Amino acid sequence: MRGLLLVVSGPSGVGKGTLLNLLLSHRDDCVFSVSATTRPPRPGEEDKVHYYFLDGETFSQWVEEERFLEWNKVFDRFYGTPLEPVEEHLRAGKHVVLDVDVQGGVQVIDNRPDAVSVFVAPPDLATLRTRLTKRGTEPPDEIALRLLTAKSELKSMSRYQYLLVNDDLEETRAQLNAIIEAETCRISRMAASGQLPTFET
Ligand code: ADP
Ligand code: 5GP
Repeated sequence: MRGLLLVVSGPSGVGKGTLLNLLLSHRDDCVFSVSATTRPPRPGEEDKVHYYFLDGETFSQWVEEERFLEWNKVFDRFYGTPLEPVEEHLRAGKHVVLDVDVQGGVQVIDNRPDAVSVFVAPPDLATLRTRLTKRGTEPPDEIALRLLTAKSELKSMSRYQYLLVNDDLEETRAQLNAIIEAETCRISRMAASGQLPTFET
């Protein structure tokens, strides 16, 4: 059966990366969609593994060539989901997991009725602040911007099909796993892939 296109969004620092790494370590039928970005790599990040690190000119060229499923400017840098690898994995029956910002996620929701959309929210804003601060990857002014952005992003959660409140990580993983299991049992998906049993004698 064709794989699921799984769009996961939520405020920066809510735990999307941690959650998706954990999910992927438990399931070999899921692959992570490697995004392209114009932001510089963080220590330990590898080109083509964590992101395709592109310069602005190359990113614009990819946009013109319609190589993105969606793209958006996030915190002053460009980010986009390359379409071709997504389609290849889906055809191969893999579930493709996208970690994209809310505006990018809404583009996918609007353009791809087959997508399964999941919004990850923090238990509360104080917890989100603590997680961002503890992660320590952004300076205080950047953390303030991410918290401000979070408030408007949280208003878009109703555009998504599923909500996960990421309090206990293992519980959230189990819920995300359950969403995948339920979606693969949808009769409409089996029929679309020509995999609905006929029970003919
Ligand atoms: P995002 O990818 O959404 O920006 P991260 O995955 O980088 O967020 O998580 C931000 C921080 O919060 C990390 O330090 C991570 O270890 C921590 N974290 C993630 N999920 C949880 C959780 N359920 N409980 C406590 N801390 C968490
Ligand atoms: P970071 O720079 O911390 O890795 O990611 C910053 C933000 O960019 C996160 O909210 C993440 O979800 C988002 N993001 C990562 N890749 C993509 C992408 O391909 N498209 C869009 N629209 N957002 C992305």
